[in-house]
Amino acid sequence: MKIPVLYIVIPCYNEQEVLPVTSPMFLNKLNGLISAGKIAPESKVVFVNDGSKDNTWPLIQQLADSDEHFEGICLSRNRGHQNALLGGLMTVKDHCDITISIDCDGQDDINAMDAMVDAYLDGCDVVYGVRSKRDTDTFFKRFTAEGFYKLMNHMGAEVVFNHADYRLMSSRALNEFSNFKEVNIFLRGMVPLVGFKSTSVYYERAERMAGESHYPLKKMLALAFDGITSLSVKPIRLITGFGALVSVLSFIAVIWAVLQAVLGNTVAGWASTTSIVCFMGGIQLLCLGVIGEYIGKIYMETKARPRYIISETTFEQKENV
Ligand code: UDP
Ligand code: MG
Repeated sequence: MKIPVLYIVIPCYNEQEVLPVTSPMFLNKLNGLISAGKIAPESKVVFVNDGSKDNTWPLIQQLADSDEHFEGICLSRNRGHQNALLGGLMTVKDHCDITISIDCDGQDDINAMDAMVDAYLDGCDVVYGVRSKRDTDTFFKRFTAEGFYKLMNHMGAEVVFNHADYRLMSSRALNEFSNFKEVNIFLRGMVPLVGFKSTSVYYERAERMAGESHYPLKKMLALAFDGITSLSVKPIRLITGFGALVSVLSFIAVIWAVLQAVLGNTVAGWASTTSIVCFMGGIQLLCLGVIGEYIGKIYMETKARPRYIISETTFEQKENV
């Protein structure tokens, strides 16, 4: 088997504090893997600038000038982590044999890359980086993140537990993945759908080296909801089931009320009636909202707008010289 070319793809949004700290670490790792003979010397570290408002892109350009192993891709505006990562992966997939995606904040242990590449050499096309424990997280982050996976799985969106977007994908897997044309993307739920031989590599996740998390509770809930509605129609089924249950119960209640009336026991209870009406009104609005979410997704999908637009890359600039 020929020595594979590895591209490490790293989405960056407003990461000027972190990049100078973590970029040498990525480069060291890459050089280490090259000298160990596991990956080819043409391997690269590719940063994807997701429309940052700070100095991230100039920093990436400087890095690309300073070392041949660094490259950068710049998106035309901020499109969010998932789209930025997809844009990076789709741009590099034809230049390399394997990609590893990782966040740029140094939280994911880069030493797990050795095991990932080994797993690829063993014949796996997808290798998931899985956090073995969450000691460094605050109780709140741990609690919300674990709730996130449980909720996702209950709702029919199967994701690898404690796996974020730190994973190795072969270019074969990426080529198949490029046929997934949906606009609402949730990578960690979609990659398992591609199939191929896959495995997991375990690592401990550290704290962010600098800067702040872009995933506060609100964004995490949005990501969970988005993931569920992108991957499964279980919520709509639950609504149907709930509707059927309520109908049966009401039918029984009606029979009971008629029987009581016939027997002469008039049912007292204005309060109970109104509260049930209000309760049902609330539930109906909630259900409409969930269904509306799906219709919104269909609307977005029918437009099939581009998921990311690349404004410039350092690859072209280097070719032009
Ligand atoms: N990120 C991005 N676009 C965004 C938000 C985040 O490309 O709109 C990148 C960010 O630079 C980082 C990764 O996505 O490399 C994960 O973000 P973060 O570390 O803030 O999330 P957390 O680790 O707290 O879940
Ligand atoms: Mg992070």
